[in-house]
Amino acid sequence: MLTADPSPGALAGLQQLRHTLHARPELSGAEGETARTLRNALVETQPDQVIEGLAGHGLALVYDSGAPGPSVLFRAELDALPITEASGVPHASRRAGVAHLCGHDGHMAILAGMARHVGQHRPPRGRVVLLFQPAEETGAGARAVLADPRFGTLAPDWAFALHNMPGMELGHITVAPGPASCASVGLHLRWQGREAHAATPESGLSPAPSLAALMALIAPHAIPGALTGGFRQATLCHLSMGARAFGIAPARAEAMLTLRTITDSALAAFEAEIRNGLQSFDLSPDISRHDHFNATDNDPQAAAHITRAATGLGIPEGDFPLPMRPSEDFGAFSATTRTGLFFLGSGRDHPALHDPHYDFPDPLIAPGVALFARIMDQVMRD
Ligand SMILES: [Zn+2]
Ligand SMILES: [Zn+2]
Repeated sequence: MLTADPSPGALAGLQQLRHTLHARPELSGAEGETARTLRNALVETQPDQVIEGLAGHGLALVYDSGAPGPSVLFRAELDALPITEASGVPHASRRAGVAHLCGHDGHMAILAGMARHVGQHRPPRGRVVLLFQPAEETGAGARAVLADPRFGTLAPDWAFALHNMPGMELGHITVAPGPASCASVGLHLRWQGREAHAATPESGLSPAPSLAALMALIAPHAIPGALTGGFRQATLCHLSMGARAFGIAPARAEAMLTLRTITDSALAAFEAEIRNGLQSFDLSPDISRHDHFNATDNDPQAAAHITRAATGLGIPEGDFPLPMRPSEDFGAFSATTRTGLFFLGSGRDHPALHDPHYDFPDPLIAPGVALFARIMDQVMRD
């Protein structure tokens, strides 16, 4: 049995690394310094291959036994958010308007701990790939890494990731086979018509009828119901129409909304209904798609490995309802690998993800490393 718990000294180093990364956050697609910091810190673990610049600033460390066997990937995310931090901690962001408020700094510290572990306990067969992935927050990163030709040569059979989760007891774990995080897509709708006098709107071309139809289509899904198969959520994030005047019938409107479902196919059907419902008007919107996230679908065997590892480590089971409503671009791995995404509690009263007061809880680093190491051990021995 491999022992995975980082020693107190190593743990202090991982916390320091997290605080360094936290203080110097970088936005999606601009994570160059973060990736360099990690490479410089982890090259001493002597990976057999270091792939830099994956789909932007992605970094993959490959520990290859040279013997046939499974290719097992563990992922952390590199990017921070365009929000001003208000945590007040000593290692708070030094960069105005950018902050690690999703805990990706903590996920990176955990994967760095895993690199140290794998460097000392080489896989007996197959290979281990530690992926520091760019651009998770926009939904673009995982798909871009999978499409990068250099990543294609790694062809992981298994892919594991964790996300910390405020609202859950600190250090508790939630995992299950099947849906782990929702599919979602952002729709940007733009209407361009023709103004008219407010007394004679029929001589213009107004977005109002089509916009009213949009409101009717999404209203039933504003506050979603239970997370069952038919789950649909539509969040209106932005809306504007016309001039701020009483004498003008409007020409222009703009709306931004996010659609959310449990499966990719349900998302496609929901989006098609919205698009079709806006077509039968004199003025219809141009619609562009943004921030598309696939649903994450946990493979039963991958979920079983995670559960077994948690049980072996005595980590208590959390009460977080799955799938989580927020999306996670790790879902892109579900199509080609046995995927396992699990959640580690950040504390019942911990500030929510993306809250300006959020800061990743350092006590999650040790169990995170221990879980990844156990999972690797189990997959390699089975
Ligand atoms: Zn996030
Ligand atoms: Zn996140």
